[in-house]
Amino acid sequence: MPCLFCRIAAGEVPARTVHEDEALIAFHDIHPRAPVHVLVVPRRHISTLNELAPEDDALVGAMTRRAAAIARQLGIAERGYRTIFNCNRDAGQTVFHIHLHLLGGWSSANPFE
Ligand code: AMP
Ligand code: ZN
Repeated sequence: MPCLFCRIAAGEVPARTVHEDEALIAFHDIHPRAPVHVLVVPRRHISTLNELAPEDDALVGAMTRRAAAIARQLGIAERGYRTIFNCNRDAGQTVFHIHLHLLGGWSSANPFE
């Protein structure tokens, strides 16, 4: 199984897991770009957003709602957070198994201001 996130989902590579269910796993990013940086990952391998099919709509909805739930769990829901999907080279995608970045916990209001 060559894909890193498939291997994490299978328990073959360790991760700091914050959530697991039948469809999803979520864990802390190994190189955090924010005080809170969690990746929400479907167990099923989908390489990029370009491969999403209509039947994946519920899965993507579950990923988004899970990111919100984890934000609440980690205490950043009210202050705010950012969610990002990177797709392919120009966006800097490095792991070709879709994942939703959950970023937050900054002390100032907006890191892009
Ligand atoms: P992307 O650039 O959108 O493909 O994001 C891939 C993310 O996976 C990066 O933020 C990496 O830091 C993160 N990452 C790579 N390897 C691991 C790992 N073994 N455990 C947790 N996060 C990882
Ligand atoms: Zn995979």
